Amino acid sequence: MTFKLPELPFAMDSLAPFLTEDQVRVHYTKHHNAYFTKLNGQVEGKPEAEMALDDLVVKAEGGVFNNAAQAWNHTFFWNCLSPQGGGKPGGELLSAIERDFGSFDAFKEQFSNAAATLFGSGWAWLVKNGDKLEILALSNADTPLKHGKTAVLTIDVWEHAYYIDYRNERPRFIAGFWNAVNWDFAAESFAK
Ligand code: MN
Repeated sequence: MTFKLPELPFAMDSLAPFLTEDQVRVHYTKHHNAYFTKLNGQVEGKPEAEMALDDLVVKAEGGVFNNAAQAWNHTFFWNCLSPQGGGKPGGELLSAIERDFGSFDAFKEQFSNAAATLFGSGWAWLVKNGDKLEILALSNADTPLKHGKTAVLTIDVWEHAYYIDYRNERPRFIAGFWNAVNWDFAAESFAK
């Protein structure tokens, strides 16, 4: 085993009512885990197996990229969630959001809209591009790492992320997300 699925940073049942234990368990132990299993099969015995995961995401193409990026994206996503989450960021991240989006509410609306309108599978991201914050809607496994931008916050809007709890109602999943955002993690990411 080369790349290892990280532990979840919270108990599987601790995000309810935003996400049930069943939703978190299937997403983490089936989907996230499968990206690691497939990636390890693809890189076994190759130099890529010795790389750091984030370096591999930047370098890889095709199927290896898809699995490496999904492995990385999901770990980042779990870190963006907390049973004690919600509210607003503090300090410098809030100031930067207000500077670049006008207000925290305007940011939330733009981010939610990007997540809701992304066609098919993908991720909405808040990223740092130089000193400026941007929202990206990226399809499939695509990730800010590949674009030289720093991830600050993400939501997974693949159907597997919400279908058990919300069926086809992606906007309700997005609305619930704001009550679980780990702004401390986003602020640490922003400070990098
Ligand atoms: Mn997912």
